[in-house]
Amino acid sequence: MTTITAELKKPSKKSKKALVRGMMDNVMEQFNSAADQINLHPNIRKILSITNNEIIVNFPVKMDNGEVEIFTGYRVQHNNALGPYKGGLRYHPTVDIDAARALAMWMTWKTSLAGLPYGGGKGGIKLDPTKYSKGELERITRRFTFALADNIGPEHDIPAPDVNTNSQTMAWIADTYMSTRPPAERTANQHVVTGKPDGSGGLEGRDRATGYGVYLSIKFWAEKNNKSLNGKKFIVQGFGNVGYWAAHFLEKDGAKLVAVQDAYGSIQNQKGIKVEDLFKYSKINDGSIVDFPNAKPVDKNQFFTLDCDICIPAALGNQITADNAPNIKARLIAEGANGPTNVEGEKILLDRGITIIPDILCNSGGVVGSYFEWLQNRNGELWQLNEVMEKLDKKMKESFDKVFDYSKNEGVDMRTAAFCIAIERIEKAYIQRGIFP
Ligand code: NAD
Repeated sequence: MTTITAELKKPSKKSKKALVRGMMDNVMEQFNSAADQINLHPNIRKILSITNNEIIVNFPVKMDNGEVEIFTGYRVQHNNALGPYKGGLRYHPTVDIDAARALAMWMTWKTSLAGLPYGGGKGGIKLDPTKYSKGELERITRRFTFALADNIGPEHDIPAPDVNTNSQTMAWIADTYMSTRPPAERTANQHVVTGKPDGSGGLEGRDRATGYGVYLSIKFWAEKNNKSLNGKKFIVQGFGNVGYWAAHFLEKDGAKLVAVQDAYGSIQNQKGIKVEDLFKYSKINDGSIVDFPNAKPVDKNQFFTLDCDICIPAALGNQITADNAPNIKARLIAEGANGPTNVEGEKILLDRGITIIPDILCNSGGVVGSYFEWLQNRNGELWQLNEVMEKLDKKMKESFDKVFDYSKNEGVDMRTAAFCIAIERIEKAYIQRGIFP
């Protein structure tokens, strides 16, 4: 645990650069190959190849010991042709302008594919949250919100949780944003963020929406291929919001969790790891799965090559690469994370006949849940959990079928299909409206 925590705090310059450069390279290569496929109008290709706005804020925060520390926060707004910018805020040492750009672009394709009235944005703060107390994290979050000021807003740019941020973070942002509005506008601005706690305008079920969507994508894929999930072995990288909930629903459907990796280590038990037991254990073990009694440690570099049927990367980008793709045993990769498979890794997997359910489809349950929360707040309603889950199911099925059919009809892989559908929708909006002035 100690070694990997140290790695988290001090990522080597070499590995950090590779991660970030790869993310931008990936998203641009994915975009260009889909743009070629649909013969995207060159003017629209130019517009979509760059971000609309990039906001960088440096802001001071008082630490518990009385000293002031300066933080750097980012918000990149890629495109808003279809509606307000939408996308998460990440707190991690690898956050910088290039990571935010790549993640913002993925959000544009994701919201478009899901048929939502949103564009794409992403941001966060470059920090290792394990180094700060809860009080410090609250002050950092509130001061970041204050620094972003009118660059976010319920009809302009709506953040949500991502790596190392959660409903508590969103509650602080909503409260700070609302507190700094003119009195008559305060309560009407609750939907400036989604993923809030359910007592503070949050949506019942938003916590599980992304993981449930990952599970549904796997289920729909199994149904299309006349397969049962019962007894299928799966591995999960990242046992946070997305990884845990995806594992929870898969296990309920009879699949067997056999290995897990988080920021602190990797564990395996081919006989099965009980999801709820591991979840409870991680809660009392500072959020880590390391030393879980009913499993053995595994070398972190071997993790993706472990024996299984389904692999769910649900942590960071660029995890499946040319280094591990040749030895991956899974026949299905369900991308819970954003950008977990790089372009070289993907080519190898596709050549080997392994299916990839791409991130912009597979993890889109989160932003669909966020859209429901936004609607709920905007209309002053309170939705019930069963209603949320039914609506989510329907939306995920529509998106999955669209991508699956496009992929079959055009003879392209599922990622290219998903990108083509997403980009065509944005192209249509530009063609209808023209370019101002
Ligand atoms: P989280 O903070 O809840 O959990 C992240 C997990 O990843 C933790 O278990 C952490 O220990 C692990 N992790 C971090 N660094 C790691 C490393 N180097 N190796 C292995 N594991 C590592 O975050 P989350 O919200 O679950 O997000 C996970 C991924 O899913 C991210 O890529 C995020 O962009 C994507 N995503 C999240 C949502 C959402 O609604 N939260 C929606 C769509 C996509």
